[in-house]
Amino acid sequence: MTTVVRDPAVLEGYARDASGLKYIPEALARPGSADEVVDLVRETAATGTAITPAGAQTSTTGAALASRGLLLSLRAMDRVLDVDVEQRTVRVEPGLLLGALNGQLAREGLFFAPDPTSDATCTVGGAIACNASGPRSLRYGATRAHVRALTVVLADGTTRELRRPRVEKNTVGYAPTHDLVDWFVGSEGTLGVIIAAELALLPRPARETGLGIPFESLTDAVAFVRDARASRLVVPRCLEYFDAEAFRIARGGVRDGAHPGAGVGADGGTPVAWGADGQVMIYAEDCTDGALAIDAWLALAERHGANDADVRVFEGESAIRDARRLRHAVPTAMHERTAPYLAQGGRRISTDWAVPIERVEEAILLADGFALEAGFAPALTYGHLGNGHPHQNWVAQDPAQVQALESVVERTLRAVIAMGGTVAAEHGIGKLKARWLGLQANRSQLALMRAAKQEFDPDGRMAPGNILA
Ligand SMILES: Cc1cc2nc3c(=O)[nH]c(=O)nc-3n(C[C@H](O)[C@H](O)[C@H](O)COP(=O)(O)OP(=O)(O)OC[C@H]3O[C@@H](n4cnc5c(N)ncnc54)[C@H](O)[C@@H]3O)c2cc1C
Repeated sequence: MTTVVRDPAVLEGYARDASGLKYIPEALARPGSADEVVDLVRETAATGTAITPAGAQTSTTGAALASRGLLLSLRAMDRVLDVDVEQRTVRVEPGLLLGALNGQLAREGLFFAPDPTSDATCTVGGAIACNASGPRSLRYGATRAHVRALTVVLADGTTRELRRPRVEKNTVGYAPTHDLVDWFVGSEGTLGVIIAAELALLPRPARETGLGIPFESLTDAVAFVRDARASRLVVPRCLEYFDAEAFRIARGGVRDGAHPGAGVGADGGTPVAWGADGQVMIYAEDCTDGALAIDAWLALAERHGANDADVRVFEGESAIRDARRLRHAVPTAMHERTAPYLAQGGRRISTDWAVPIERVEEAILLADGFALEAGFAPALTYGHLGNGHPHQNWVAQDPAQVQALESVVERTLRAVIAMGGTVAAEHGIGKLKARWLGLQANRSQLALMRAAKQEFDPDGRMAPGNILA
């Protein structure tokens, strides 16, 4: 039987995720097995208590916080249950960290492709429940595409095995009902608890090359990204943007001893020269034949004004890992900059919108203009430019700034929707963005979502406040 914890000191430790919001749960349970989850869900069903599942609580939207009732931490369920090397699938428990999963799969020459930059600290269950994606989703797609089957516990305590249909054709009724796995991927804990998942794997590429390419302007960087996407000579696995400030933060992590062709050593020494203040940077990755690809990439970069001598090459697995750490340094730095203001009601304001690639520069500039009009500096902007999906970040120091910056974001989101974009490309809706759901989803789409919620969780006990607030 799982202990239900009510000690305020322990509960306080589960009161925050990466959103800056704070909700102290009424109780906490940390089950170690599927049976314990079933028992807990049945007990709470009997008392009408709400349940919010949580993985590692790295959500940036408050989705992993219990606004009422029990917080169900799945972290202790972290086993790899079965690897089928031939079929390239793995069955896992939900609390396993993505990084740990890929560490184990490396021995088999396989990997799980979705790569949120938080992969070292986020769980498989959380990634599925948020349909997480990452830099390499440019090539591999988001988590959804890699989930084969799920075992879920519904609000009434029943367990359901959901498997994607194997048929190649299907004309039975409305498409959204064809595959229930799709309903649970991205459901943010609101439809049930994922207690196991079968995931599709890919063979590890024989060769991986990353390039950090400084450019003079956003315009050059966007033109380069669009050409790289269209090129037949390079196969981009990711195309990540760093504005001048993000590039400054990232290159603070580059140390002596690193030189083009040898990768970057992240430890020791002093920062080395790489690019100039005011320059922006694109980090591109390719996993085709290294030698050919590098020449093609450099030629493409040169066509958009980049200087060969400033390009840093990250060759091989360990250098690519270092490059990833540089990328991770940016959101981490923004979290650190925000931390002093949390207690006084400030928080990081971070966007997750995406637009069709041909509108991305316009959208970034529009958002920066809205910020200036509201009396703020333009955002720190970085992220998945290759997908038309940059993240914009501000530090709001107090509730008044939170409100003013959220108005800036809302203005941007209205423009983004008009451009054919989305208000939430990878972090989900959670609690923070629930009020913006209606900007995007029309009446019929909202009605369909409510019907799904009613079907699986008629009493509204699962992850209350997420998505359909
Ligand atoms: C520095 C940083 C970088 C990030 N980078 C990215 C990025 O590149 N791409 C990206 O997509 N996200 C990113 N994120 C956001 C976050 O890491 C991802 O959404 C991640 O997948 C959440 O996993 P988690 O284990 O922390 O889940 P949690 O935050 O604990 O939970 C997230 C949601 O999943 C639900 N949930 C968790 N486990 C289960 C379960 N077993 N059953 C049902 N529901 C469940 C929760 O109820 C909640 O709604 C980043 C966050 C940080 C802090």
